[in-house]
Amino acid sequence: MHRADPRPHKIDVGVGVYRDETGETPVMRAVKAAETRLLAEQRTKSYLGAEGDQGFTDRLADVALGQPLATDTRITGVQTPGGTGALRLAAELLARAGATFVWVGAPTWPNHGPIFREAGLVVRTHAYFDTAQSRIDFAAFVDSLAEARFGDVVLLHGCCHNPTGTAFSPGEWDELTQLFLARGLIPLIDLAYQGLGLGLDEDAAGMRAMLAAVPEALVAYSCDKNFALYRERVGALWVQAATPAAAVPIRETLLVLARSLWSMPPDHGAATVRLILDDPALKAEWRAELTSMCARINGLRSALGASHPALAPIADQQGLFALLPIDENAVSQLRERHAIYMPASGRINIAGLQLETIESFAAALSPYLP
Ligand code: PMP
Repeated sequence: MHRADPRPHKIDVGVGVYRDETGETPVMRAVKAAETRLLAEQRTKSYLGAEGDQGFTDRLADVALGQPLATDTRITGVQTPGGTGALRLAAELLARAGATFVWVGAPTWPNHGPIFREAGLVVRTHAYFDTAQSRIDFAAFVDSLAEARFGDVVLLHGCCHNPTGTAFSPGEWDELTQLFLARGLIPLIDLAYQGLGLGLDEDAAGMRAMLAAVPEALVAYSCDKNFALYRERVGALWVQAATPAAAVPIRETLLVLARSLWSMPPDHGAATVRLILDDPALKAEWRAELTSMCARINGLRSALGASHPALAPIADQQGLFALLPIDENAVSQLRERHAIYMPASGRINIAGLQLETIESFAAALSPYLP
C-alpha cells in the first residue's frame, strides 16, 4: 500500500529493516569487502556438514557470548538459517528433550508462537508490558510466571525487544536469573539486534550474566540486522548444557535435527561474517558502521521522545521498534489522512523516520495519543 501511494510526503514505518537517512537498507561496507574477498578466494562450494561454517559460529560466539564463555565446553553451537532457523532448531531440541511449555511475553514477535507450536510445544503467554505507560511491568511478569513449572522454557529477548523496544535493567536480569534458578526454568534467549541498542557488549551483558549463573540455556542469534544480511539467512544457535559431558549428546542431536530440517545452512552470509570477524581491519569497519547505525536510531529516539509527552518513553527504549499507544482505528486514519504506514498493532520502525520528518510525524500522531 505504501509503494502504491503517490503522495510525496508518505512515510513507511512498517517494514522491520534498518534504513539509513536516505531510506535505503544498504549492504554494509565491511560486508561488501568480505564478499569481494570471498568471490576472489573461495576455491570450492562443496558441502559443509550440518553444523555449517564452524569458524563462523565460533567467532560469532566471541561477539555474542563474550570471550570467556566462548571457551566454555558446556556450550555447543551450530550455524542456522537466520534467527528463525535457530529458534526452530531450539524448539525441536526442546521438544525432543521432553519440554512441553514455552512461555512468551505478550506482545512478542508474531513468529515466535508458530515456530514453537509447529515443533509440537505448547505456547503460554505471560504479562510483560504496561501498554498505557509504554514500559516493562516487571512485577506482572514475575506474577504470571508463578504458574510456570520446573523445566518450562521462557523466551527472553536479549535486547531491543520486538515490538516494544524495551530492555531489562541489569537488576531485572539478576532477579530473573534468581527466579529461573529457584524455579528450574530454562531461558531461551533470542538475540536478534545485538549492537543496535546501547552497543555490542552492553546489549549482551544481561544475557551473559544470566548464562554464567544458570546451568542450562539456549541462545538463538540473528545476524540479519547487525550485519544487514537479511536475505542471506545468517544465524546461530548455542546451547549451554549443565556439564561438558552433557553437551556432547546435545550437539549430536542438534546435527541430526538440522540434517532433517535443512541438511546444511546456506553458506555465503556466514562465510562473509567469518571473514569480517577474522580480519581486525574489517571487524573494526563493521563495528564502526554498526555504531553509526545505532547512533542514528538513538538520535531519532531522542527526537521522537521529545516531540510529545506520550512518546517520552521511546527516548529511553532501544533498537528498531516502538509500540505506539494508539488503536487500529488511529492506524488506518494515519494511513488515509497522512500517508503514514504501520501495522495495525501500532508498531513502528524508528529507522523509517528522518530527523526532518519527526515533527510532521508527531503532529499527525498527536490527536490519537493519550
Ligand atoms: N527474533 C526476533 C525478535 C526478530 O525480530 C526476528 C526477525 N526480525 C527474528 C528473531 C528472526 O530473525 P531472522 O530474520 O534472522 O530469521
